[in-house]
Amino acid sequence: NRKIILERRPQGEIQDGDLVLAEAPVRELRDGEILIKTLWLSLDPYMRPRMNDSKGYMDPVGIGEVMVGESVGRVIESKSPNYNEGDLVTCYSGWQEYCIVPGDAPMIYKIEPRGVPLQTYLGVAGMPGRTGYCGLTYVGKPQAGETVVVSAASGPVGTVVGQTAKQLGCRVVGIAGGEEKCRFVVEELGFDACVDYKAGNLEGDLAAACPNGIDVYFENVGGEVTRAVAKLLNKGSRVPICGYVSAYNAEDASKVETPFHVFGAMGENKPEHRFFLVTEWQDRHQEITTLLAEQVASGNLKYRETVAEGLENAVEAFKGMLKGKNFGKQLVHIAD
Ligand code: NDP
Repeated sequence: NRKIILERRPQGEIQDGDLVLAEAPVRELRDGEILIKTLWLSLDPYMRPRMNDSKGYMDPVGIGEVMVGESVGRVIESKSPNYNEGDLVTCYSGWQEYCIVPGDAPMIYKIEPRGVPLQTYLGVAGMPGRTGYCGLTYVGKPQAGETVVVSAASGPVGTVVGQTAKQLGCRVVGIAGGEEKCRFVVEELGFDACVDYKAGNLEGDLAAACPNGIDVYFENVGGEVTRAVAKLLNKGSRVPICGYVSAYNAEDASKVETPFHVFGAMGENKPEHRFFLVTEWQDRHQEITTLLAEQVASGNLKYRETVAEGLENAVEAFKGMLKGKNFGKQLVHIAD
């Protein structure tokens, strides 16, 4: 069983030797356990803060432990009445080719493919998709005719936020890095506009794309994008703070100006903002997964993905994702 281990906590950007490839035999199954073969591994921005020695909303990964991560896998041996050989599941396997888990462990879900590619259950019909859908509809509460802005617009979270807001009758503006991503967001995903924050005129371009100001800002990135957005927020606006990936490689997290600082300091004009976690809507996991998968199957929910081949390429792919080298959902293909 090949796996990626956290050997040393990265200081700032991940360096060679922080995450290393290791190998160990797969042990015998005990009663009640299942053995899962990883087919697709999901790479997600949250994994970077989990490498730090600070307690966020979840414990850090321990030194010498397998990197945390969700995957799609196939049950290849079962000593649990809950699973049969051949069942397809999503589970938090970590970055490894095989994992053994108790058959009654939480956070394992059987997949019914529903005519969509399996890896979609890690992207727009998976955790990022549910995050985008729930965060937008339950926290952002967009109304028809309002202007919704979402950053990291071409990624799986942004993709679902924008297309859902379009379905609700909003004017939708994306923010993304580079001309190619912006073109995709407008032409393929159907947003009304997309601002390239790397083009050198962020504030002006954003103001031009939002002539009626901003009613909902779905925050994914932080930094200069957040400061530009804050100037355009309308009274009564809502800001679901989902993440701030621009700061995840910071050497000193205590010095980062987070979106909470920026929006929290807006005085009377402070938007209604709230941090939310995937676990908040766990009771609706299956319902929203089905809803999103059906939209993918019917062609109403479009997306892109970037695939790295083999576990040995996972670390480079992950480093690239934190700099926007991915185009759409970043995955690692492990086996068929
Ligand atoms: P993406 O696939 O969108 O990947 C991250 C993207 O962030 C990059 O592709 C890049 O896009 C953008 N980015 C990187 N650096 C910067 C920067 N300095 N300034 C602006 N943009 C930058 O990731 P996801 O869709 O999976 O996740 C999006 C956000 O949602 C993340 O913040 C993540 O942590 C958060 N999240 C939160 C959850 C929760 O429960 N709260 C659950 C899931 C995700 P570009 O090239 O366009 O700059």
